[in-house]
Amino acid sequence: MRDPAFVSARNNPRKWTRPFGWSRATLSPVNHVIALDVGGTGMKAALVGADGTLLHEARRATGRERGPEAVVETILGFAAELHALGEERYGEPAAAAGVAVPGIVDAERGIAVYAANLGWRDVPLRALLGDRLGGLPVALGHDVRTGGLAEGRIGAGRGADRFLFVPLGTGIAGAIGIADRIEAGAHGYAGEIGHIVVRPGGTDCGCGQRGCLERYASASAVSLAWAEASGDPGADAADCAKAVASGDPAAVRVWQEAVDALADGLVTALTLLDPRTLIIGGGLAEAGETLFTPLRAAVEERVTFQKLPAIVPAALGDTAGCLGAGLLAWDLLADRRPEPTQRPTDPEVSA
Ligand SMILES: [Zn+2]
Repeated sequence: MRDPAFVSARNNPRKWTRPFGWSRATLSPVNHVIALDVGGTGMKAALVGADGTLLHEARRATGRERGPEAVVETILGFAAELHALGEERYGEPAAAAGVAVPGIVDAERGIAVYAANLGWRDVPLRALLGDRLGGLPVALGHDVRTGGLAEGRIGAGRGADRFLFVPLGTGIAGAIGIADRIEAGAHGYAGEIGHIVVRPGGTDCGCGQRGCLERYASASAVSLAWAEASGDPGADAADCAKAVASGDPAAVRVWQEAVDALADGLVTALTLLDPRTLIIGGGLAEAGETLFTPLRAAVEERVTFQKLPAIVPAALGDTAGCLGAGLLAWDLLADRRPEPTQRPTDPEVSA
């Protein structure tokens, strides 16, 4: 987690570096898009340049306790502020906006269908944002798939044409990367690897099944198991990882159970998908080699005919969603405008 004070200082570089006499007219305009990542507790936003550079970053509380309408209004206001700031600071307005939201997302129709933690049902977010931003093209994406897009294209999976991104957090989700895009499935549910049953008849899951992967290998599941095994109700997954690293046998047992469940789930996924790279993110991946060394061994032990993918930690941390939202926005422009019209002065572009 980044220090908010550090972020806000970085947000205003020109405040400190702008020389006397500097004015907007002396700077050539900077082509950019607006990127927004809406989480259950916080929102991240950025202005992203054409080469993927983060020109400006900001964070704000989601404030979900104020109700779903107020959260939507905060998103619209936050985007409008960034729009104005981009125009003022970079000499031209943003060319598009991308926004990533949790829950069930209909990206085609631009609708946030359902988000339990935000109380949303059928919010036409793309249309609302487009209206607030003066008709700007807007792309809407699912948070994990959008983060996965960034990890696959500019993060840990860079250069992999087939990858699977699996964040291990409160739950376990997944993003299936195929040829530079993320597969959403026919109904927007593809990638829900956390609800693959790895222990039939096992622990009850909120989804209605028993023995789902996320009940054994999410950061929350490991926290619960370690709190019980250690007798310390406040102990969490990070404490368990530390105890594993120091050789505590009880911690090693808890950890290995999670690793085995995770390997079972991942092997099912890689049998179906044959990814080149398996990117593991989320809180549990912060344990580093304490997780990755036994995980690689457990996966290797299980595969027979399947090709082993590279198993790597995620590289972008909690900015993946925001960077991915920026990519969605740029993709929108690439789809809508042919290259030569978009960059008439680019010498690389030929007819
Ligand atoms: Zn489940």
